[in-house]
This record gives sequence, C-alpha cells and structure tokens, in this order.
Amino acid sequence: MTDFQTTVGAPKRPVKRLEFHMSYVCNQDCVFCSESVRMRQYQKHPLSYKEMIETVTRKRREGCEHITFVGGEPTVHPDFLKLLSASKRLGYATLLITNGVKLSEEAFSAKALPLLDEIVLSVHGSNSKVHDDLAQAPGSFEKLWKALELIEKSEKKPFVLTNTVVTQKNFGDLEKTIDVLTRRPAVRHCLISNLAPDGNALSRYLEQVVKIEELGRLAPRLVNLGQRRGKIIRFFGIPLCSLGEAWESSNDLYWDSRTNVERATSHGQVALEDTWNYTPQRMRFFPDVCASCPVREKKCWGVFRAYHKHFGESELRVWEASLSHF
Ligand code: SF4
Repeated sequence: MTDFQTTVGAPKRPVKRLEFHMSYVCNQDCVFCSESVRMRQYQKHPLSYKEMIETVTRKRREGCEHITFVGGEPTVHPDFLKLLSASKRLGYATLLITNGVKLSEEAFSAKALPLLDEIVLSVHGSNSKVHDDLAQAPGSFEKLWKALELIEKSEKKPFVLTNTVVTQKNFGDLEKTIDVLTRRPAVRHCLISNLAPDGNALSRYLEQVVKIEELGRLAPRLVNLGQRRGKIIRFFGIPLCSLGEAWESSNDLYWDSRTNVERATSHGQVALEDTWNYTPQRMRFFPDVCASCPVREKKCWGVFRAYHKHFGESELRVWEASLSHF
C-alpha cells in the first residue's frame, strides 16, 4: 500500500462522516495554517447557499450521519447559521471546527450553540501572548475565552474538544496550555497536533516544526495531566513508536473513515469535489524502518513525508510491545 489514500469520484465503501469545507476565508491568519494555499486559491469562489444545501442533502441521502464544518473559518460564511440549522433538520450530528472568534459574540452563540453537538476550538497557547502571536490576531485569545464562557453558560452543553498545533513558538507553553484547558469544565478532550506540512506550515516548515522525539518525551506527562482531571488527551500525526508509553493516546487508533467535499479545479472550472479517506495517512508514509513493523497500516500510519525529508527515520523504532487490548 502506498501513502495515497484518497479516492476521488466514487467511494470504495460508504462512510458516515462528512467533512464539508464550506469557507475559504478566515478572520485570523495563523502562521502555521495548513489551508492557506487553498484559501488563496478559492477565496474568490465562495460557496453559494444553493451549493451547500444541495451538498449536505445529497450526502445525507448517501448515508452520512455526522457533518464537520471546516474552513477557513466556517462561522464567517454569511449562511453558516442557515446551513447549520438545515443540517440539523436533515438529522446530522454537527461538529464545528472554529477559532472561537464568532462564538464570542453573544447573539451569534445564542443561535449556534443549541444546534451544535460538538465544537473543536483551536487553541495555540495558555495566554494571549502565545496564542495571539501564532494567530496573528490581537485579542483572539480573549475572544476564545469568552466563547468558552458562553459555551459553559449555555443550556445545551456541546462536547468541546480543543486542538493545539505544536510549533517551536508554543512547545515550551504546551504543558501549561493543557493545564489551563483541562481545568475548564466545558473542555472534555484535548488534541495535540503535530505540524501538518501543508500551506503556511510547509512554506515555513523548519522554523516551526518540533522534533517528534521531543513531543514523544512530553506526551506521557500530558496524558497523566488529562487523566487526573478526567479529560481525554490525543495526539495527531505522530508515529505510534514516538509516543512511547503514551501510545494509547495516538489519534490513529480512533480515526474514522470520512468523505470530504471541497473546492477543486477541473479542466479550468472551479467546482466542488467529493473525496473519500479511509486512513489517517494524508501526507504521511512508511519509511524503510517500518517495513517489518507489526503495527504498520493497522495501528500506525507512519511519519509525515516532509518531516522524514528533513530529519530521516532515526527517531522511529519497530514496534515490540503488545497491543492486544486494542
Ligand atoms: S516503525 Fe513505522 S509503522 Fe512502526 S510504529 Fe514506528 S512509524 Fe509506525
């Protein structure tokens, strides 16, 4: 098997999760934004409500039960609330991935929160200095915290996850970030993401990326911190062997197949394209050391290709421990 894992045009088998890339604009400018290239390419081609409602209706008919609104920043689309409401009426479980800026507005939150089952908040640090610098948006941390307060006060309590993309600028603050997040009553799950080499993250990769062995060394402490507070900690984009005793917190072990709908260009025409992902291996591959590894393609989906290009495979080890309870 190669690292190619996206099917364009027709599914190999039905999937229940839809990731709908509904916005190509954002109200922040994160230095590691993996979507920056696609946003520049398609910001002049915003999705119409007609395209959006046709997509979510068609995908529901195809068997999707869960919708993730992805951007850019989905909440800045003028028809976000209308689409969210329509998706709920169609019977979807709803998940919003957001920087929290719009959710800090009371009027917006009052309409959106009752319709959201899950929210992923992007949190770059434990304080405004770290977070706002990475978001390149002064005041964004304060707004994020205000959004969390509104979620905590809301009648319906959506399941709140946070996602922290690790860079050289926030790695020193990561333990503190997880500490402050796991103290918040609304936050149930913290995802810690290895830098995905795409967009801004790829163009400035070496000045941002953190070595996976450093992340792996810190991982057990973060997992313990979460466990003490009854919160789930997961790691995205990190090989199983780099996580050491924190391996059970690898997001690869919990990943679900999904279909994406996003802008693409075909024969010079900008349209919406369906793709299907059956593994979490996007942009990752198995270098030579993985050849005899028993967890390859089962519990581990390898290392980012761009990471391997710069750092090789000396940090990877063939897996020897038992995974019998998984
Ligand atoms: S050796 Fe390769 S397949 Fe095995 S755990 Fe490490 S990265 Fe994953």
